[in-house]
Amino acid sequence: MRVLVINAGSSSLKYQLLDTKSKEVFAKGNCERIGIDGSFIGHEENDGGKQKLEVELPDHKTAIKHVFDLLAQAGFDTEAIEGIGHRVVQGGWYFPESKVVTDETLGWVREVAPLAPLHNYAEADVIEICRNMFPSIGNVIVADTSFHYDIPEKAWRYALPRDVVDRLHIRKYGAHGTSHRYIWRTTREFLGGDVHKLVSCHLGSGASLSAIEDGRDKDTTMGLTPLDGLIMGTRCGTIDPATVCYLVREGGYSIDEVDTMMNKQAGMLALSGRSSDSRDIEEGAAAGDANCQMALDMFYYRTGQLIAEMAQSLQGFDAMAFSAGIGENSATMRAGVAQELAWLGVKIDPELNKVRSDEARLISAADSKVKVLVVPTNEELMIAYDVEALLGR
Ligand code: ADP
Repeated sequence: MRVLVINAGSSSLKYQLLDTKSKEVFAKGNCERIGIDGSFIGHEENDGGKQKLEVELPDHKTAIKHVFDLLAQAGFDTEAIEGIGHRVVQGGWYFPESKVVTDETLGWVREVAPLAPLHNYAEADVIEICRNMFPSIGNVIVADTSFHYDIPEKAWRYALPRDVVDRLHIRKYGAHGTSHRYIWRTTREFLGGDVHKLVSCHLGSGASLSAIEDGRDKDTTMGLTPLDGLIMGTRCGTIDPATVCYLVREGGYSIDEVDTMMNKQAGMLALSGRSSDSRDIEEGAAAGDANCQMALDMFYYRTGQLIAEMAQSLQGFDAMAFSAGIGENSATMRAGVAQELAWLGVKIDPELNKVRSDEARLISAADSKVKVLVVPTNEELMIAYDVEALLGR
């Protein structure tokens, strides 16, 4: 099935047209700076053709029009597109699985938007635009939170007063669920029936872990929002929640300033004082920068610690899989994290760890108690599979 996958942000819109059977990506791109000066579309086709289109993108509707024009020029008119999959960041309490777009399901995306205002409103608008502009094409909502919906209550509940939690729908929702689902599926294909308990490690500029047993999630490190858990590019991850009160009361920061500080000015960026990008931090550490070295040491320490926490949720683990920008590309970071887990019998083979490839691969030593893999994630393909499952004939 030929599926268009759309990932809309407040000022961007990524798209990919792919085939679920051949896994071929026909075209992909990103509309950037929507509603801001200097907007453009970066568009690529599978024959290697690339273009940067400097066009005014005052709103998402204009961006989508351009995307469909570009796809038509590439030979894919609306007849050729058999379904559209929309990534939705927050599915709240409505999306235990992906769902076909109807007035009702679209309303749910807006209803839960206060939990992720920067994403859900834009995503809902884009879904509505696609429905209205191309009524012959079916649309599917794939929420990033769905995979975590069924984690046990002891894992998702917060120890806050019940009336508050109930009224405001506070719980662990998690994120990156589509990626963790794909990582499980690929690991299972790779290792066959030998794997039951997997700690999936999505380590990109946003990062989270998921404790998966036979395809079902048991726990995850992100919480009510993606701020929780691991130290990330610009997010602080788990800290004492009272720090927020202290910053407001004693530091004189407004709540919005604290929000921005913790999401955009913290994490590896704050620790290294140099960059949120682990390549720059690795370079800095190699050149003797002590702050960069501390950023790496803390990343290894916290990631190892939380992997052990996920293993506890699973009561042991057969495998762990590294994925996303850092997990797929940085042999240094993989080695640093694995070293923290040596006491659990995790051991990677330094030569296998150096191999660069776009394929899933094993990097653990023969005598490792836990299989360690690198699994390039593919959220778009996972979304397209869901579209096919719900709309395909
Ligand atoms: P996101 O999708 O959350 O923006 P990605 O999964 O693309 O993030 O990961 C981006 C991060 O991956 C970069 O910030 C960088 O830290 C890291 N990264 C990418 N390539 C490499 C590399 N070759 N070595 C080390 N880190 C890398």
